[in-house]
Amino acid sequence: MTATQTTYPGSFIAGAQHGNAGDPLEVVNPAEGRAFASVAAATEADVDAAVHAAASALPAWSDLAVSKRGEILGRAAHHVEEHIDELIPLLTREQGKTLRDSRIEITKAIDTLMHYVGLSKALRGAHTPNLDPGVEGYVLRRPLGVVGAIVPWNFPTTLLCNKLAPALVAGNTVVAKPAATTPLTTLRFAELLAEGGLPEGVFNVVTGRGSQAGEALVTHKDVRKIAFTGSTPVGEQIMALAARGTKRVTLELGGSDPMIICDDADLAAAASAASMGRFYNCGQACLAIKRVYVFDSVADEVIESIVEKAKRLKVGRGDVKGTQMGPMHTAGGREEMSAQVSRTLKSGGELRAGGGPPDDPDLADGFFYEPTVVVDPPHDAPMATEEVFGPALPIWRVGDLDEAIERANASPFGLGSSVWTRDLARAREAATRIEAGYTWINSRTKVYDELPFGGWKSSGYGKEHGEEAFDYYTETKSVVLGATVLTGATTKRRRASARSASSEARSV
Ligand code: NAD
Repeated sequence: MTATQTTYPGSFIAGAQHGNAGDPLEVVNPAEGRAFASVAAATEADVDAAVHAAASALPAWSDLAVSKRGEILGRAAHHVEEHIDELIPLLTREQGKTLRDSRIEITKAIDTLMHYVGLSKALRGAHTPNLDPGVEGYVLRRPLGVVGAIVPWNFPTTLLCNKLAPALVAGNTVVAKPAATTPLTTLRFAELLAEGGLPEGVFNVVTGRGSQAGEALVTHKDVRKIAFTGSTPVGEQIMALAARGTKRVTLELGGSDPMIICDDADLAAAASAASMGRFYNCGQACLAIKRVYVFDSVADEVIESIVEKAKRLKVGRGDVKGTQMGPMHTAGGREEMSAQVSRTLKSGGELRAGGGPPDDPDLADGFFYEPTVVVDPPHDAPMATEEVFGPALPIWRVGDLDEAIERANASPFGLGSSVWTRDLARAREAATRIEAGYTWINSRTKVYDELPFGGWKSSGYGKEHGEEAFDYYTETKSVVLGATVLTGATTKRRRASARSASSEARSV
């Protein structure tokens, strides 16, 4: 550790900073390749303290009316928004993304909180009259309890809020673990929510390694659910660990999203979408466009346009005005992707742009990599079969829609996908046949809070966003109200019980 580094005690538990007992983990600025802070890692005992705080806060929080929880969360989110200018440079410094992208990310995270604040006033439940003569039923929703939220480094705040918002509105309390390399924005985010009035213990953060703090959270006996976003191998490990104790899990995992560009598409718009969809956040997005399949008859024009855009993108430090693409997040991630590109080119394909770090000496210490385009590598090359988590795009020519869909589906992943065509019948056919949790038609990579999001196949299990997210943060119970002989007195009681049933059916 150098003298210029700031040291942080680690976790945020029960509304206050908590000094972790583990060793210090360095936080590196990816644009400089140097640590600027260190944060003590959480041990099993620190995780236990956080879960204990969340469990202690649970009864009072879950007893509040659902709209009251929404109101409190809304005020706290507003306080975060007032401090967004403080969070933006912090996120850029520890993650590497441009200041503009940090603003977009944190704004989206706050929007997601506010979306569920809105839903807190609109939740309704199911009620079935006359199940049998005089017998009615309703579905009661109850919170699960303490939720563990494990988040990666590529979008530390949005991926956190996708979990936090429905979990809290549904009456759960949360312990989050950010990636070991991006703890700072999350810690400050938690402090701001607390300053904004979120009661202590309702939201806690533990920092540290996945193998230590992460596993301690997953295996803690008082954690009822793990909401995980990250890689497929770690997701599978978590699912296995969570089996003990039959914990609930949602898994938002890796992707290799295909984009199909038909011969009748708006080719200029499609090429822009391919470039933005691949190189945004330096290619480090789960639902980035990771494979392009373009109809042969228009392929030359589209490829030329994507290559031009890739070569023109301004690569640089995220905190410098005018930068369009920052560095990759870690040296290890860059090495891994660089090896995928080399192995692919060894097996075939033409390198049309990039292919390595930029020449600029000012960028030599950071984890930069040029926007890269490879055309027509073999269909079994690493860039086709593995997730490429960085700024490198493979493009293939295909004969028709059938071939494009077949290729699109020939992947273990099934997260997102997109189709570019002016023909509605083609668009609908592709949307039906592509094996993925999202299909954008003449549009790309934007996730809406209104619609459920979640992968098929090795891309995960369960949904985030939409009202559907509540299904993953609640248990439901069917309640049957048996027949009663109605007298004046029992009618009164029945009316009162029906009133309370309908309010319970609404609340979670
Ligand atoms: P990762 O799986 O290595 O780590 C993610 C989180 O899990 C981190 O907080 C890490 O510390 C923790 N972790 C690691 N091992 C653990 C263990 N044994 N027990 C508990 N926690 C553990 O993922 P990453 O490489 O940091 O992130 C990139 C991956 O995330 C990519 O595959 C990307 O596609 C995926 N991702 C998916 C989505 C989605 O919504 N589907 C969104 C963003 C990223």
